[in-house]
Amino acid sequence: MENLFTYSTELSKVIPEEEITRYLDRGKDFINEQEIWDKLRKNASPSSSRIREILKKSLSIQTLEPDETACLLNVENEDLWEEIFETAGKVKKIVYDNRIVTFAPLYCSSYCINNCLYCAFRRENNLVKRRKLSLEEIREEVEVLAGEIGHKRLIVVYGEHPTTDVDYIRETIRTIYEVKVKTKNGYGSIRRVNVNAPPMSREDLRKLKDVGIGTFQVFQETYHHETYKRVHPEGTIKSDYHWRLYCMHRALEAGIDDVGIGVLFGLYDWRFEVMGLLYHTRELEKSFGVGPHTISFPRLEPAFNTPFVQETEYRVSDKDFKKLIAVIRLSVPYTGMIITAREPKEIRQEMIKIGCTQTDASTKIGIGAYSDRYNEQEAERQQFILGDTRSLDEVVREFAQEGYLTSFCTAGYRCGRTGKCIMELLKSGKEAKFCKLNAILTFREWLDDFASDRTKEIGEKLITQEMEEVRRQIPTAYPKLLAYYQRI
Ligand code: SAM
Ligand code: SF4
Repeated sequence: MENLFTYSTELSKVIPEEEITRYLDRGKDFINEQEIWDKLRKNASPSSSRIREILKKSLSIQTLEPDETACLLNVENEDLWEEIFETAGKVKKIVYDNRIVTFAPLYCSSYCINNCLYCAFRRENNLVKRRKLSLEEIREEVEVLAGEIGHKRLIVVYGEHPTTDVDYIRETIRTIYEVKVKTKNGYGSIRRVNVNAPPMSREDLRKLKDVGIGTFQVFQETYHHETYKRVHPEGTIKSDYHWRLYCMHRALEAGIDDVGIGVLFGLYDWRFEVMGLLYHTRELEKSFGVGPHTISFPRLEPAFNTPFVQETEYRVSDKDFKKLIAVIRLSVPYTGMIITAREPKEIRQEMIKIGCTQTDASTKIGIGAYSDRYNEQEAERQQFILGDTRSLDEVVREFAQEGYLTSFCTAGYRCGRTGKCIMELLKSGKEAKFCKLNAILTFREWLDDFASDRTKEIGEKLITQEMEEVRRQIPTAYPKLLAYYQRI
């Protein structure tokens, strides 16, 4: 921590100007606040027929225009909201069917030179217990995650600090992919490592691509310039709005196929932020022909020694949270949507019905918490407090009870179904059918290796229904599916 000061005075070295200015349009970014507010005002009282037209467009899996999203955000009639929720559920079914993807976060380090007012890891928080995992400790964490719990996907998370630079991030990812643990019927290993790390230069992003990362995620936190400035104090790297805003441009240029964007809801007006996500999506589509692979919408959670969280005037209620999730699903119909264990069980279940496609389980966010095996949350070791700490087994069982098939398939990025290619498959609804087959097979494998008896029993019932559906709907694929299934 001693070199914090020298590091922060060399911001120009960390942020090469050219990696920002090349994207600006006559010095301006693509978040035109006046335009966003104008659109929200102009579409203040949309008629029911206008809303129904927009819903129809979403059902044809097209990204909405800002005016259209503004209309949805302005609906007041509760019955019309019910139609919106229902349509959001239908859109999700077209694109993803009943599949759901699970993952676990792996926090590698809590050292951070930034000072984000809302985060327990901010540098001025002297009371938080900090730790950085060694490669051996990473290995131990992965042995639990992949060998005992049965995860196949991780999101690795880092603070921003010279001791956890891109080289450390690369080494941790390499280590994670190397771990193979003997299980009942084969080997447990992590097959896809998604990354949530600070923004980087194209050169560093190319280094990340080389180690085979999945999605690269950076949340803008807030698209509102002034709020951004207020919550990310001057002089810190994170205070540079544009460095963060254009991170996904750099990632796509560096050859990373899948990028994830997000907002930390509770910092500013939620309607404005949803418009920000849409503008970001449309900008990526315009510049690269591909939008975000995932969108995340964490809500501010209490964090150790972090009074800001209690003081914010923009907290999002459960009711508004549901609305914003439905509007994101309808505005960017093809995108993956991530709801995390920040949220309590009931909220997660409800949001999965109307649009979310990915969620974490058996979640621990204390550094080293999986292999330390402590079960209580320890606020002073965590970035924030979790709302749901159920095990993967419990979560998978509940999904199966409700008819959701947990997919442990990670074949997509191995056989080139990433970036533009996967977007086309998602938009045409082919991904929903195609992935069903792999989802069934990987679910079966997971049940055999990791499930409790009760989960296995419920999971097997679901598999029987799913196999029957494939037999009826894609009869040509059924014999092969059956042959593979019997081999397992
Ligand atoms: N340090 C990197 C960064 O800020 O980009 C990596 C990500 S940070 C560890 C992960 C995300 O957690 C942040 O982008 C932010 O949206 C979210 N976060 C921070 N404080 C939070 C809080 N109190 N409640 C909920 N989410 C929070
Ligand atoms: Fe550091 Fe990220 Fe927390 Fe900000 S949100 S203090 S950058 S870990």
